[in-house]
Amino acid sequence: MSSTTNVEGLASYELKRYSRQLPLLGEEGQRKLRNTKVLVAGVGGLGSIEAIYLAAAGVGKIVLVDKDVVEPSNLNRQILHWTDDIGKAKPLSAAEKLKKLNPNVEVEAITAEITRENVEELLRGVDIVIDGLDNWETRFIIDEAAYRLGKPYVHAGIYGFQGQVTVIVPSETSCLRCLLPPKLRTPQQQIPALGSVVGIVGSIAATELIKLVTGIGEVAKGKMIVVDAYSMEVLKVELTPRKNCTC
Ligand SMILES: [Zn+2]
Repeated sequence: MSSTTNVEGLASYELKRYSRQLPLLGEEGQRKLRNTKVLVAGVGGLGSIEAIYLAAAGVGKIVLVDKDVVEPSNLNRQILHWTDDIGKAKPLSAAEKLKKLNPNVEVEAITAEITRENVEELLRGVDIVIDGLDNWETRFIIDEAAYRLGKPYVHAGIYGFQGQVTVIVPSETSCLRCLLPPKLRTPQQQIPALGSVVGIVGSIAATELIKLVTGIGEVAKGKMIVVDAYSMEVLKVELTPRKNCTC
């Protein structure tokens, strides 16, 4: 592997490795990805898909945070975790695969719950956060802190055949909480999930992040991409922020 960089600043291995996306992102876009540090909040179904595509695309650093260990019931959708990983901490299991996929990406695995106490520290080390979570409480902890620190937050969520993605950019949109209905509660029962549907929604989130970082394409700011895989329809819904939010 050569570390020689050409005049535009991409190494020869990068020109080869990313040759199929360079026509889309440009060398400048590729350099922007390389210079970006992403926090993947939750390394379950959505987080697996987001992390794998961001690593494959050449994001410079990926920080994986999750408190859980791999369980048999995860394996239908959390594709960075395999049967042999049962019992292993999810960030470690995911980091092993990502490093094999793309050794040029720096991967940090943090086994922890995201809380009000540690969220700022987690966010300070990154440029942007992507949502691999399964509960609104943690999403709002991240939303509030990311907004305060001026870091973009790519939100994604699934429920059964449905999923949604929106991009929060503090200087341009309101926070996630005031774009959503006021009384969202995480369901008490387990959220039904099909791996291929999680894959669609996670792929949309990763694509939105790549577009936001590289400045290419139309990013879903102030809009919710709503996926209904049951009827296989994708809608983009204009969001109206609540007036009484403190953000
Ligand atoms: Zn707000």
